[in-house]
Amino acid sequence: MNRSFCDPLRTIGRQIKSAEATYQRQANSVQLLAVSKHHPVAAIEAAYKCGQRAFGENYAQELHAKAVRLRQADIEWHFIGPIQSNKTPLIANIAHWVHSIDRYKIARRLSEQKPANKAAINLCIQINISAEASKSGVNTEQLPALAEQIQELEGIRLRGLMAIPAPTSQVQQQREAFARVRQAMEALNQQGYNLDTLSMGMSQDMEAAIAEGATIVRIGTAIFGQRPAT
Ligand SMILES: *Cc1c(COP(=O)(O)O)cnc(C)c1O
Repeated sequence: MNRSFCDPLRTIGRQIKSAEATYQRQANSVQLLAVSKHHPVAAIEAAYKCGQRAFGENYAQELHAKAVRLRQADIEWHFIGPIQSNKTPLIANIAHWVHSIDRYKIARRLSEQKPANKAAINLCIQINISAEASKSGVNTEQLPALAEQIQELEGIRLRGLMAIPAPTSQVQQQREAFARVRQAMEALNQQGYNLDTLSMGMSQDMEAAIAEGATIVRIGTAIFGQRPAT
């Protein structure tokens, strides 16, 4: 594995900057999360050499294996996949961010299991914005109660919302879904929360997400290419 990812990372960096300007977003208000799930450690090392520091993983064991191999590197690890409760110790030990919280029990276990000397874990609640029965995430009616419970926990910081809208190539539909995520966060902030993070936008819908206020875009394929089959 000796591919370089500097070119795609630069290209996406330029696209982010251009979208920030087009949609009157503050410069550098959108962070690029490189989603490295299923790609080998060598791919992360190569992207790291280009200056990328934030990496996203979907599987707890894979996160753990990679973090052990890369423990010398100054990586900000983001967990973005569905979470089984028996996997929370691995995630609590490693992740700086967890985007995919959809029940209180998982947040509570992360709070309890986080090592005392590790900084607070940043959490996003995943919302099921397209109301698809098969997707994870809470619906907007369940959101206020879950946010209230999570807010009380020690060792974690509730930062915002994450969503994976139903895929569509229609930019207007992409924007409508992302706008609903932003409105859900604004509604919480009106109730006194201080949330600052919208984790939304992937390779196919990044620009629409930035237009609607994304602060973290989660990009895999456009950086690393197609994921190897598992
Ligand atoms: C895989 C994945 C991504 C990256 O998707 P791409 O289409 O490869 O950019 C982003 N977010 C989540 C939650 C994912 O599982």
